[in-house]
Amino acid sequence: MKIAHIDCIALDMNLSREFSGGTYKVTSRPTIITRVHLENGIVGEIYGGDEFHTQKEIVAVIEDEFAPLLAGQDVRDFQRLWELMFRHPLDLGNRGLHQLDMHPRGIIMQAISAVDNAMWDARGKLYGVPVYKLLGGCRESVPVISIGGYYPDNGSDPCTAIAEEVNQVKDAGCIGIKMKVGRVSLEEDLARVRAARLAGGEDFVLTVDANQGWDPLDAIEFCVALEQQNLNVRWMEEPLKWYDQIDGHRLLATKTNIPINVGQGEISGRACRDLIKHGDINILNLDCTLCGGVTEWQKVAAMAGFMNVQMAHHEEPQIAVHLMAANPHALFVEIFANRTRDPLLWQLPDGFPKITDGYMAVPDEPGFGISFNSEAITKYTVPR
Ligand SMILES: [Mg+2]
Repeated sequence: MKIAHIDCIALDMNLSREFSGGTYKVTSRPTIITRVHLENGIVGEIYGGDEFHTQKEIVAVIEDEFAPLLAGQDVRDFQRLWELMFRHPLDLGNRGLHQLDMHPRGIIMQAISAVDNAMWDARGKLYGVPVYKLLGGCRESVPVISIGGYYPDNGSDPCTAIAEEVNQVKDAGCIGIKMKVGRVSLEEDLARVRAARLAGGEDFVLTVDANQGWDPLDAIEFCVALEQQNLNVRWMEEPLKWYDQIDGHRLLATKTNIPINVGQGEISGRACRDLIKHGDINILNLDCTLCGGVTEWQKVAAMAGFMNVQMAHHEEPQIAVHLMAANPHALFVEIFANRTRDPLLWQLPDGFPKITDGYMAVPDEPGFGISFNSEAITKYTVPR
């Protein structure tokens, strides 16, 4: 079944307040809808990504490079088409002799991801089955945790704030929270984690995310304290700075039993291999809107399974719920229970997500099973 053409729509919504994580601040919610039109009239479409600064460049690579490359190709050949994009010679022209090339590579990999993911929706619609059934079909609903625990910007007590948020997250139907750490002193963050555990109770899933904020010795001190205080943290996410991802994590793993979760920013499956093999990490939260799409994510997931590493997914529940449902060693799907942090999730897809008793139902329509609200698309489209 041949691809007729491919196009995309860039969206961006301003948020009502600023959100502060361990090492960054967020003020808007951008994304890209990519559409793969087949010759028989089927349209594969999905949104993905959360990147404003390079949004224009990603759109240009999709429409100017990959759309003509894939026109006339058989959409069913997912390995071949992925390699066609990955091996396509592409120079974005901003390489410097003394700078890393990760910036243009990141743009290219996000463009590959967008097209690959939309093609999976098209395949699901072509075969008449949901994507999670095409990929493995391990379960029909997935436990949900909420990303949150941002630092309060209104002068309120951080421990009171996290306790209140944990209650809101439970009220929203999530079984746990991923809370930010790493912006304040270790003692202040420990007090916030204690407050979260107290508010959540024994069974509440509590994970912490430092957004690559620490050196190994800080991370060791924090993790050892978490264990000594029996705070039962499910994972420690991205504890270490970007330049110490292999030996640093291996050192941390010798000092703590808390599972280490990394990988949300990786754009290469081979980098994931090295994190597992040499960095001793326990969970990969690889993001299929960055790493090359569902095709590459599934290959990494298979490798991780053989090496006793579990899979998580960074944000993007509209796709992640299918990946988490398709793999036996996958954990939770993530949303922002605070709707002001990700208003797009509640306005763009029609009737998604459906959450009951801590579990998100996997949409059972063909493809990703999601249709989009046309008014929201019009309202938030970034002008060309
Ligand atoms: Mg993270």
